[in-house]
Amino acid sequence: MTVVGAGPAGSTAAKFLSEKGVKVLLIDKSKFPRSKPCGGGLPIRVLNRFKYVKDKGLIESYSYGGFAHSSSLKYNVELQRNEPIVAMILRKKFDYELVKLAIESGSVFIDEKSAKDIKILKDKARILLNDGTNVESQIVIGADGVWSNIAKKSGLNQSRKNVGICLFQEYPMSSKTLDRFFGEKRLCHIHMKLQGIAGYGWVFPKKQHLNIGIGEFESLTNKSRGKTNLKEVYKNYIQLLKETKIIPDDLKIGRIKGAALPLRPLSKTYTDRCLLCGDAAGLINPVSGEGTYYAMSSGEIAARTIADALEAGETDERFLSMYQKIWKNDFGKDIKLLLRSAKQWTKETEKFVELASRDEKLADMALGILHGRLSIHEYRWKLIRRYLYVYFKELFSK
Ligand SMILES: Cc1cc2nc3c(=O)[nH]c(=O)nc-3n(C[C@H](O)[C@H](O)[C@H](O)COP(=O)(O)OP(=O)(O)OC[C@H]3O[C@@H](n4cnc5c(N)ncnc54)[C@H](O)[C@@H]3O)c2cc1C
Repeated sequence: MTVVGAGPAGSTAAKFLSEKGVKVLLIDKSKFPRSKPCGGGLPIRVLNRFKYVKDKGLIESYSYGGFAHSSSLKYNVELQRNEPIVAMILRKKFDYELVKLAIESGSVFIDEKSAKDIKILKDKARILLNDGTNVESQIVIGADGVWSNIAKKSGLNQSRKNVGICLFQEYPMSSKTLDRFFGEKRLCHIHMKLQGIAGYGWVFPKKQHLNIGIGEFESLTNKSRGKTNLKEVYKNYIQLLKETKIIPDDLKIGRIKGAALPLRPLSKTYTDRCLLCGDAAGLINPVSGEGTYYAMSSGEIAARTIADALEAGETDERFLSMYQKIWKNDFGKDIKLLLRSAKQWTKETEKFVELASRDEKLADMALGILHGRLSIHEYRWKLIRRYLYVYFKELFSK
């Protein structure tokens, strides 16, 4: 078995496959430990599903609440809890630790090797590496991120239009300064539709770092895309954060880094002898851009499917289609609903934050869904009911 890409999707797949006694080669084009553009906010359900993440000390710190600000800045919702609402990680460390866990379980890891091409043959899959050598295996997992070569060369993703753009920086900062600005509860800030972009700005305080970013979740095919200069939006955001005393006045913007993220799942994430996981398959929360949970979960499901396929001696797409059925039934329902509501949500954020600023129950549910603490599938009707209740209550009291 070969797994291409050692991000959370690939390492998780490798770990679970090795635990099932399958021989695994995990390859990545970067030298590890490597950085990965990310806010580093993990929904708590990652910890519930993958207990070892907490047990092995992969979490830097926790955030116990935060503020959501409306686009006009007129309204804001504040929530503070006794339990953590988001776990904070440093991706360089987190991803490397996941690779080490895969190795501990028996996977062989090779970094600084890039997969250039994949050929699906009758009796095996062959991967061509950048150094001209080949790797052959029965099945391949493509977990090589948003610009996945495996997705492209296997014919599963020819279009690269459904991507959003994020700009971010992670600033090292003393705990003392972080305590002063964000308290021991490390309260986060989210600025909805910041300066009108179809997305939001985030401020994620960690143990000794502050992660500040903006994300625009609009497809490249959308006509309004590209009209805003995101670097300017980022610079203005830092200015706004300083003016509103959310961050220290002397924080210096260094080199602003940008990265893409997928906006929707591919229609097909399997073919003969090949499965796609994580960003390579477009598995992400299309409203918040949070993808680590889906990356790890799809890696786990792919490992389970492949172990069954090897046992049954079935490696064609008919058998492997099981993978897509399982992830759709697992977290795919939530992604589908989020996709359906994304446009409406972007339109309604101002009103939503206004109402939520006066109704804690509504605020709690919305933030829970946004941060992935609550399943949208389970909570959507409760959320809509509460929204309408608060809306009409206010209307009639006027
Ligand atoms: C700026 C930004 C902020 C984000 N913030 C958050 C957040 O706060 N919380 C959250 O949950 N998610 C966040 N996400 C999304 C999250 O980072 C991704 O969904 C997640 O990393 C997907 O994991 P993955 O394993 O599928 O891919 P990746 O983490 O991208 O890993 C892919 C790996 O494949 C390797 N690779 C690529 N091509 C090849 C090749 N040809 N051959 C060999 N190896 C290859 C890469 O080096 C990389 O190590 C953010 C994304 C961005 C861009």
